[in-house]
Amino acid sequence: MIAYIALGANQGDPRMPLEAALTALAALPHTRLEARSSFYRTAPIGYENQPDFINAVARLETTLEPSPLLDALQAIEEQHGRKRTLPNGPRTLDLDLLLHGDTRIRTTRLSLPHPRMHERAFVLVPLAEIAPDLSIPGRGRIRDLIERIRGQAIERLSD
Ligand code: ADP
Ligand code: MG
Repeated sequence: MIAYIALGANQGDPRMPLEAALTALAALPHTRLEARSSFYRTAPIGYENQPDFINAVARLETTLEPSPLLDALQAIEEQHGRKRTLPNGPRTLDLDLLLHGDTRIRTTRLSLPHPRMHERAFVLVPLAEIAPDLSIPGRGRIRDLIERIRGQAIERLSD
């Protein structure tokens, strides 16, 4: 199954936890890291008095089911010292499961596709870099979705 993961961080040098998370994703059992986007810088949404975020998206080929995969993502978040005091506030590492094949579910613990991914430049722009022809179940083609978020500032960082 193909799964897409969104990575984000905005504390200290945020590239370090993101690189560490990519290494941890590549080491997951029954899983291959197939692609990763560039890093992108975005202004925080919601609670705005905090540093910019660094974001990226990864594509996994995995036989892990959605729930065990979310367990694994949360374990990686913990391992890399996630601390958070405010909703949408600063955090050292956030890993969201965006898509898992065509799975559509909505429970308190896990919603797929991720319920806000289609309206966030910091998800769609890196996702389009590694999956330009993707369609998001129930939401439409990434090319069309990206047209609607052109107002959101996002900057691709050089390698
Ligand atoms: P944020 O929405 O800012 O990423 P958190 O990372 O703290 O916030 O996630 C809050 C909760 O969202 C988690 O406890 C998790 O169970 C739930 N959740 C629901 N769907 C998903 C998903 N697709 N990916 C990651 N977490 C999810
Ligand atoms: Mg999250």
